[in-house]
Amino acid sequence: LVPFGICMALLNIGGIVWFSRRRLSPLGELQIAVRRREFIVHYQPIVEIRTGRCVGAEALVRWRPPDGSLLSPDLFIPLAESSGLIKPITDQVITLVVADLGQLLATDRSMHIAINLCAEDVATGRVLPVIEKALRNTGIQPDQIWLEMTERGFIDIDAACTTLTRARELGYSAAIDDFGTGYSRLSYLESLPLDALKIDKSFIDTIDTDSATSSVTSHIIDMAKTLKLVIVAEGIESQYQADYLTKRGVEYGQGWLFARPIPAEEFVDYYQKTKTA
Ligand code: C2E
Ligand code: CA
Ligand code: CA
Ligand code: CA
Repeated sequence: LVPFGICMALLNIGGIVWFSRRRLSPLGELQIAVRRREFIVHYQPIVEIRTGRCVGAEALVRWRPPDGSLLSPDLFIPLAESSGLIKPITDQVITLVVADLGQLLATDRSMHIAINLCAEDVATGRVLPVIEKALRNTGIQPDQIWLEMTERGFIDIDAACTTLTRARELGYSAAIDDFGTGYSRLSYLESLPLDALKIDKSFIDTIDTDSATSSVTSHIIDMAKTLKLVIVAEGIESQYQADYLTKRGVEYGQGWLFARPIPAEEFVDYYQKTKTA
């Protein structure tokens, strides 16, 4: 029998040989990824539900390490947020959006791009001058930029108000993301200066069912309408859901029924094909 300690030592050596980068902690790996700019952005079309006409896209980050794999944001955004690395990642996303879609955005003023902000950037407004600088001399107008903030990490409503007010003065639009899933309070909706509300997929999922949650979805729609917010439904997968939302007067949506998040070139093709649908 080989003693346990020796087994572990052998396993460790094997690990070092086979996964040389795995020697690092996940945080160490993410730091290197930020330094080497290993992130790319996929774009999920946002469409007019009734017609399928594409009106814009949401920028969704992915991590592409040198081994060729593609890592979903759910695997690294939580660590990025808790470590502060989300800030340089957000900056890289903004740069990538301008590089990928700048030309399209500058020539088609009716198109918009939605960018996800972390709670800290919503609180401090740090990201606003970053966006302003990225847009300079590109021909992209501020009103083509939608800032999505999730209520997941919301702490300071006054700070968020200050940032959103400033953002809207600069011409950007503000959307509350994943509405209904976090610390949402109705008061948030009334006190935040918002242009749009995104209904989380978990509520859209209930449209096929007769459950009580489904009536919550209906209430969210009514509330958003009362507050005159643009509504975007997220995670639409079935025609039944699309028909229900159209019937309820929800104009915009995104989801696999229309398109998955796709690389920039594919998105540009998709946009050209469906913008006049
Ligand atoms: P989110 O902002 O709620 O983005 C929508 C997520 O739902 C995306 O997942 C998208 O691929 C997925 N989705 C859209 N339609 C459907 C559908 O019909 N069916 C299903 N099953 N899924 C659908 P993704 O790309 O994995 O992103 C996950 C989350 O990571 C995002 O959720 C967002 O919170 C965060 N995230 C992504 N990119 C960024 C970023 O650049 N910055 C920050 N701070 N967070 C980001
Ligand atoms: Ca989002
Ligand atoms: Ca969302
Ligand atoms: Ca969501």
